Amino acid sequence: MHDAVIVGGGPAGSAMAARLAAMGHDVLVLDRAHFPRRKPCGECVNPAGVDALRALGALDAVEAAGPARLDGWRIRQGAGGGFRGRFPGDVHGLGIARDVLDSILLDHARGRGAEVRTGVRVTGVLREGGRVVGVSAEGGEEIRARLVVGADGLRSVVVRRLELLRRPPRLRKVALTAHVAGVDAGRGWGELRAIGRGCVGIAEVDGGRFNVTVVVAGDEARDVAGDPAAFFDDALRRFGFADARRVDEVLASGPFDFPVRRAIVDGALLVGDAAGYYDPFTGQGIFRALRGAELAARTADAALRAGDLSAAALAPYERDRRRAFGPGERVQHLVEAFVSRPALLRLVSRRFSRRPALGDAIIRVTGDVRPVRSLLRPSLLLGLVR
Ligand SMILES: Cc1cc2nc3c(=O)[nH]c(=O)nc-3n(C[C@H](O)[C@H](O)[C@H](O)COP(=O)(O)OP(=O)(O)OC[C@H]3O[C@@H](n4cnc5c(N)ncnc54)[C@H](O)[C@@H]3O)c2cc1C
Repeated sequence: MHDAVIVGGGPAGSAMAARLAAMGHDVLVLDRAHFPRRKPCGECVNPAGVDALRALGALDAVEAAGPARLDGWRIRQGAGGGFRGRFPGDVHGLGIARDVLDSILLDHARGRGAEVRTGVRVTGVLREGGRVVGVSAEGGEEIRARLVVGADGLRSVVVRRLELLRRPPRLRKVALTAHVAGVDAGRGWGELRAIGRGCVGIAEVDGGRFNVTVVVAGDEARDVAGDPAAFFDDALRRFGFADARRVDEVLASGPFDFPVRRAIVDGALLVGDAAGYYDPFTGQGIFRALRGAELAARTADAALRAGDLSAAALAPYERDRRRAFGPGERVQHLVEAFVSRPALLRLVSRRFSRRPALGDAIIRVTGDVRPVRSLLRPSLLLGLVR
C-alpha cells in the first residue's frame, strides 16, 4: 500500500509528488501518456509560476532548457489599438514548450524519490465504507493508497468518478494551439490580438519558435471541427501573421469551464485543473497547479503523519486554496468578460493606452505578482473614469 497515489503527471501531479516524496512518503504517480508529450497550452509561466518553480527546486533545470523570457504582455485590438503592461523591475515570466517543462518536472519528482509509471490510464476510484482507498487502471489493475490525489487535469476521471462536477462543462470556447516559426511579434513580450469575439495569443517558447493559441467562441466551434489545421492556418493570416509557418500538428481543446463542488473527500484530494478551471485567457494555470500542489502537500503531509485522511483532516487545504485563488478567479471572470465584448475592450484599450499604469496594474495582477486589491488604488480607479 502506497502513502499516496497521484493520478496525472502534469505540473500539479509532479509538484505534489516531488514534495510528498521529499517529505519521506511513499508516492506513486500514474500518467496515461508517455513523456515527453504535448499539451494544449499557451506555454507561458507567469512570474509567480517562476517563483513556484524556484520554491520547488526545479527552476535551475527549467532555465537550463533555454526558455524564452517574458517581461510583460501587449494587448492589441484591430489596427493599432491596444495597450501593454510590464512586470515590475526584474520580475519576469517564461515561455517554455510543455513537452519540455512537464518532462523536467516529472524527472524532478523521480529525483526526489517518487515512483512514476507512464502509459497507465486510470479508469476508476476504489471505495470502501464511503472513503476512497485507491484507483483502478485500464486492464483491471487495482492500486491501493492511503491518499488518492486527482491531478488529471480538465475532464479528470477522478472528479467524474467521485461525482464532484458541479454541472456539465459549457462549450464557451475552443482553442487551437501549435508552434510556428517566422512570427514577428517581438522578443520578450507575450502578445494577445483580438478580432471580433476571437483572439490569438503569441509567445516565444525557445530560440525563434513561438506558441500560437487561437481562441474562438463556442458557436464558431463547428467551423473548427471540420479541419482544425486549415482553420488555424487561416486564422494566422486573419490575425496578421502573413509569414508565419506552422512547424507541428494543431492541438484542439475545449470546453474549459470545469467547476467542481469541492477539492477534498474522505481519502482523496484534487490539485491543478482537476480542482476546477475556468478560462485559459489569463495564463495562470501552471502557477495554480504548482502553488496548489504546495498547499495540498502541506495538508497531506500532516494528515498522513497523523494517520487521519478524512475530509475533516484535509479541510485546511480547501481553505488555503480558496484564500489563495478566490480573488484571482473573480478577476479572471472580469478580464474574460472584457475580452469577449469587443466594444468594451475598445473602450478599456483607449483608457489603458493613455494611462500605462493601468495596463501595468492588470498585467501584474494576472501575473500573480500583485494582489487583486492593488487594482482598487484610488489613483487607478480615477484613471479608469477620467
Ligand atoms: C488552450 C490553453 C491555453 C493555456 N495557456 C496557459 C498559459 O499560457 N499559461 C498557464 O499557466 N496556463 C495555461 N493554461 C492552463 C494550463 O495548461 C493548466 O492549468 C495546467 O496544465 C494544469 O496542470 P495540471 O497538472 O493540473 O493538468 P495537466 O497539465 O492537464 O496534466 C494532467 C495529466 O494527467 C494525465 N491524465 C489525464 N487523465 C488521466 C487518466 N485517466 N489516467 C492517467 N493519467 C491521466 C494527462 O496525461 C496529463 O499528463 C492553458 C490551458 C489551455 C487549455
